[in-house]
Amino acid sequence: MKPYYQSTRKNADPISAKEAVLQGISPDGGLFVWPGLGQEKLNLNKLIQLDYKGIAKEVFTALLSGYTSEELDDCIENAYTGSFESDEITPVKDVDGIYILELFRGPTSAFKDVALTILPWFLSKALKDTGKKALILTATSGDTGKAAMSGFEDVDNTGICVFYPHNKVSAVQYKQMATQSGGNVKVFAVEGNFDDAQSMVKKLFLDEDLKEKLAQDDIVLSSANSINIGRLIPQIVYYFDAYRQLVNKGVIQTGDKVSFSVPTGNFGDVLAGYYAMQLGLPVEKFYVASNANNVLTEFLACGTYNRNRPFIQTISPSMDILISSNLERLLYYASNKDTEKVAGWMKDLAEKGSYTLDEDTFAEISRLFEGGWYDDAQLKATIKDVFDKTGYVLDPHSAAAYALAKKSETPVIALSTASPYKFTQDVLDSLGQKEDNPWQAMRDLEKINADAIPHPLAVLERLEILHDAVIDPEAMKENVLDASKEIFA
Ligand SMILES: *Cc1c(COP(=O)(O)O)cnc(C)c1O
Repeated sequence: MKPYYQSTRKNADPISAKEAVLQGISPDGGLFVWPGLGQEKLNLNKLIQLDYKGIAKEVFTALLSGYTSEELDDCIENAYTGSFESDEITPVKDVDGIYILELFRGPTSAFKDVALTILPWFLSKALKDTGKKALILTATSGDTGKAAMSGFEDVDNTGICVFYPHNKVSAVQYKQMATQSGGNVKVFAVEGNFDDAQSMVKKLFLDEDLKEKLAQDDIVLSSANSINIGRLIPQIVYYFDAYRQLVNKGVIQTGDKVSFSVPTGNFGDVLAGYYAMQLGLPVEKFYVASNANNVLTEFLACGTYNRNRPFIQTISPSMDILISSNLERLLYYASNKDTEKVAGWMKDLAEKGSYTLDEDTFAEISRLFEGGWYDDAQLKATIKDVFDKTGYVLDPHSAAAYALAKKSETPVIALSTASPYKFTQDVLDSLGQKEDNPWQAMRDLEKINADAIPHPLAVLERLEILHDAVIDPEAMKENVLDASKEIFA
C-alpha cells in the first residue's frame, strides 16, 4: 500500500510524504501520520543482511511516498557518506551487559544529527517539484540550532536562520554556532532569553506581510522541528540496525525480542522505536527514561498527563520538557486512530494543562511502555558507577537510559544521545573532578576516557568567529528579510 499522511486530529485531506515534509505540521495543529502503518511488515531476514544505508533505503521506501528510488539514494548518500565517524553510523557497545547504541557520532556529537543530516535533503527534493526555495527559521537554546545548521549547510534551495539567547548558551554551544560555515547559514544572538526568541520565531511564522515579501522571490518559510516526519522517519533506521548488530554479535537470534531504553524529551526518539515495531521489529518493551521533569513517568504509570508543575533545570537539559509533542502520534495509534479522542485530549492539554486517557488506550500504551526518572544526583551516581566498573563514560542523558535499562530481563539496548564531551563539566563533576574552563575540561576528560574528543569539538576552541550579530527581538523580521536576500541572491 502506498503511504499517505493525514492529521492526528481529523480524517481528511490525505497528502503525500513529500507534502508532509514541506508542511511540517497539519493546519489543524495535528501531526502527520499514516493510518496504514503496521499493516505491512518489512522482511527482517533481509534487513539484517544489509548495512545502515541499505536498511535506511528499505525503511524510507516503505514510508516516504512521492520520492523516487533515485531521490532516496541521493538523500542517503548525501547525508550519511563521510559525515559520521565511521560507516557504521550508529555503533552498539556492550557495557556491562547493557548494549549502548551510540547515536552521537555525527558532525555535532548529538543524536539529532542522525535526522538533521538527512531532513534537509528530503526537503530539498520536495522543493524541487514546486520550484520554490525554503528559508528555515529556528530558535534554539543551544543544541538543535547547531545540528540544524550543520545539516542545512549548502543544501540546494534551502537557507537557515538560527536565533539563540545572547549570553545564555554554554561556551561550547556559543562557539559551535558562531563558527558555523556555509553560504546559506545565518546565526543571530538575540537579546533576552530563549522564550523571547522562540515567541518571536512563532510570530514570524504567522506574519502575513513577511510571507508575502518572501513569496515574491518564491521563498517559503519552513521549520526543522522534531514533529516533521522527515525527522521522525530517519530515526526508525537505527532501531533495526541495532537489532542487526546484536544478531551479528550472537547476543540474539533473528526473531528474538529485545527491549529499548530511551532518554526522552519530546518523545520523538522512542516513538521512532514504536514505528520500527509496527514495521516488524520484535520488541518486548520500551523504557522511557526521564529526569526530574517526570511528566512522562507519571503518565505511563497512571494514564494522566499533567504539565501543571514547575519546570526544573537539570544536567540533562535536552530532556527538560513538559510537553512531549510527539506523544500525540502514539495516542493516535493506541486509541485505534480515534482522531476525535486525540483532538479532545490535545484541547484539554492546551486549556487545562492535563488530560486523562480512557482505559483501553491506557492499557494499550502501558502494555508496551514503562517510564522511570532520575534526579541529578542519581544521574551523576550512574555516570560514576558505570565508569568505575567499566571505564565507559556516559553523558547525563544517556545515564538516565542506562539506569532504567537495568530493569529489563530481556536483552536491552540503551540509546545514547550525546557525547560526554558535550557535557564535559557535569560529567567530570560526577567523576569527582572540577574544572571551570570548558576546553580544559575536555582535555581532562580525554585523559581518563578511552574515547578521544570528537574532531569537530577538538578543533572548536581555535576556530574563527564568523557570526557576531547581536540583535533585538523586534529586529528579527528585518534581519530575516535581509538574510533571505543574501542567501538566495
Ligand atoms: C533531543 C534530545 C533528547 C530527547 O529526544 P526526543 O526525541 O525529544 O525525546 C535526548 N537527549 C539528547 C542529548 C537530545 O539532544
